[in-house]
Amino acid sequence: MLKLNPLFDLRNVRKVYRMGDEKIVALDDINIVFEKGKTYCLLGKSGSGKSTLLNLLAGLEKPTSGSIVFRGKPLEKLNETQLALYRQRYIGFVFQSYNLLPTLTALENVTLPLIFRRIPKRSRNGQARAMLKSVGLTNRSKHKPAELSGGQQQRVSIARAFVNNPSVVFADEPTGNLDTKTTMEMMDLITGIAREHEQTLIIVTHNTELSQFADQTIHIRDGNIERVEDNENKREGANGAGQAIAQAEEEPEPEKKEEIA
Ligand code: ADP
Ligand code: MG
Repeated sequence: MLKLNPLFDLRNVRKVYRMGDEKIVALDDINIVFEKGKTYCLLGKSGSGKSTLLNLLAGLEKPTSGSIVFRGKPLEKLNETQLALYRQRYIGFVFQSYNLLPTLTALENVTLPLIFRRIPKRSRNGQARAMLKSVGLTNRSKHKPAELSGGQQQRVSIARAFVNNPSVVFADEPTGNLDTKTTMEMMDLITGIAREHEQTLIIVTHNTELSQFADQTIHIRDGNIERVEDNENKREGANGAGQAIAQAEEEPEPEKKEEIA
């Protein structure tokens, strides 16, 4: 039987913002498990709560109620110091606007997470060079962000997100500033690295075309999960979605674990 390997287990997660007298329900009642080594696409319109969900998973904000359990430990029980360590140790980020430091070279930008973890210089430069190589930027290591194209800057930021060997990488609209061709290259790159190293990848987007790159698409609407779509079953389904769903129910994705694990 298929064994669930939860990285995150979210139970009745709710986030309400207060703006003066007004209450904004950013997340209403979220219940979902994110498994180790799987890639997810969080799909929903602007304002549906996608970024809020990432912020909660990253421990940048706390839920108003409910629980987010990471590898058996509820995040809401951690203090600020523990949360900072949690982010350093387990999490990588890719942003729409790349968020590279303009005065540092590509290599220096990639080493930043390793500096925070006090990895010695020689070791961190080696790790960062290897990471730049895997994103195809070996010959741009001395360039500063302004001397790189948008796609190249996003490659540097992908290298920075993965250099620490995090358990999970969050990407919030990572291709929002890129053209279609670069978007597809970037999605191949980021999902390829995550699958190779059995890392969980959670990509936030409002672009429905990107969901084909993920194992599962999670549709978010008005702060709730509307439905979860299994993309592999959809692709494998013989003729039409009905048959695919019937198949999926009969044999719960036996080959899938092996491919990812
Ligand atoms: P998405 O990323 O899907 O576009 P967000 O998670 O950013 O959506 O926002 C969900 C809702 O919560 C929106 O209505 C937004 O205006 C509101 N919101 C998000 N962050 C804050 C905040 N810090 N203070 C008040 N309201 C917020
Ligand atoms: Mg957002």
